[in-house]
Amino acid sequence: MRKPLIVGNWKMNKDIKEGVDLVKAIVNSKIDQEKIDYGFAPPFVSIYEIKKYLNEKHILAAQNMFYEDSGAYTGEVSADMLISAGCNFVILGHSERRHIFGETDDMINKKVIQALNKGLNVILCVGELLSEREAQCEEETVLRQISLGLKGVDNSMIEKVVIAYEPVWAIGTGKTASKDDAEKMHKSIRNHIAKLYDEDKAKNIRIMYGGSVKPENIKELMSSEEIDGALVGGASLKAESFIQILKYYE
Ligand code: PEP
Repeated sequence: MRKPLIVGNWKMNKDIKEGVDLVKAIVNSKIDQEKIDYGFAPPFVSIYEIKKYLNEKHILAAQNMFYEDSGAYTGEVSADMLISAGCNFVILGHSERRHIFGETDDMINKKVIQALNKGLNVILCVGELLSEREAQCEEETVLRQISLGLKGVDNSMIEKVVIAYEPVWAIGTGKTASKDDAEKMHKSIRNHIAKLYDEDKAKNIRIMYGGSVKPENIKELMSSEEIDGALVGGASLKAESFIQILKYYE
């Protein structure tokens, strides 16, 4: 049985005080942690402070990291630093990292390997551009990103990986993939994991959907057996909307 997982990706929003206020409001709203795993991906500078308001079950994710241990990499943050600040997860390969900052599948793969070797859980984001969907190569794109992103990730490491399917055309645009489209892609991803690993790993891996998730569409998306959770951007920035999303099970 895969436990649902919902994470709010704040991107470059919220200073430390705003972040703490948001987390306090959400944590105090008594989300049932028996029913779902949930948490936050704040900007780096807020991670350490926000950790103080979370319990051991909460997810505290960084939005990125670098793949080297330490050294002359101005502006970068290592896996060890994230762990020392309180992170248990890291988001890697987000479409904004791929398309604004030019991250390649090879770089993302190095980050995935480093994060897993250091003991972090990874949310590996994959997703096609609108032009790729229009050219009907969305599945090929997504499965390629998965194969390349997981190169060298062995049978034991894959248990610490969550896949987030985030069609790029649905991120921050208000357009959501239909439940059927998301479900179809999630099934393909699961079959692909079975090929790369085995049936058991495919059955157990959590596949989240991301792309304009909001209170109005979360129930419908989560009603699919294939959709194990959500990576939420815009709608995670307000306590009211994120709480409604987290309590989709009510
Ligand atoms: C995201 O940041 O991963 C995301 C899905 O953003 P939004 O919910 O705003 O589309």
